[in-house]
Amino acid sequence: MNILVIFPHPDDAALNAGGTLARWASEGHKITAICCTSGNVGTLRRDQTAAEVGAARSAELHAAHTLLGIEETHILNFPDGGVLDFQTLRAALVRCVRQYKPDRVVTMDPWARYEVHSDHTTVGRAAGEAAAFACFPLLYSDQLDSGLCPHHAREVWYMGLLGDRPNMYVNIGDHLDRKIDAVLKFEVSLAILDGLFQAEATPSGEAAMATIKSRAHEWMGGLARRMGKPVGLPAAEAFLTQPCAPGHFDNMSKLYAQMLGEPETEPVVHL
Ligand SMILES: [Zn+2]
Repeated sequence: MNILVIFPHPDDAALNAGGTLARWASEGHKITAICCTSGNVGTLRRDQTAAEVGAARSAELHAAHTLLGIEETHILNFPDGGVLDFQTLRAALVRCVRQYKPDRVVTMDPWARYEVHSDHTTVGRAAGEAAAFACFPLLYSDQLDSGLCPHHAREVWYMGLLGDRPNMYVNIGDHLDRKIDAVLKFEVSLAILDGLFQAEATPSGEAAMATIKSRAHEWMGGLARRMGKPVGLPAAEAFLTQPCAPGHFDNMSKLYAQMLGEPETEPVVHL
């Protein structure tokens, strides 16, 4: 399968779906990652410029994704920090869908409740729309003049905080350690695990790293176990998937069932 992962900041894919991406890579699926910003405001430190932060975050992203087995990772260099222009981003992501021809698009859920970071909601919204709209030849037709073809992605998987109950669980028991190692490539993760996300929190020394590593296993391992529990998996990542039709999600009967309070359908479990 061709899988396209679209997210706003360098650590988003590893944190929210790192185990699943590592599993898919090990199963031979081709994964392309599109990071919309370089994460160049992602620090509370005051001794670095945005360019320096962007360069450091980009290097961390490539190191983490190499570890996960992701073949290609590209950074679109949109500005970080909640100032994305939706229409420009949407056109760029439609171009990505036409270029990489994914069967499946994985992104953030723009309808997650209490999500205050608009980069997450804006990218999730634009990525879902790109999956559903890249098939229309008259939309952004200049892209077709440069040799691209319309493309229809079959499904969208939302990762991380979801606006609805998950309908898909992936067993990441064999890939949890790799996910944790990938997440630990990011200075922000280290700073969070070192206490709080604060200025000058960069840990140093072997003892500090050992503490951080055990906290990472506690935190991410615990979360993976909680996610697996409802479906009897030892460790899981949960997703909300939507089948994709031209211009919309093919979810009408499910939404009517929800509206009428009918019983939920059972989630799909990838053992
Ligand atoms: Zn993020």
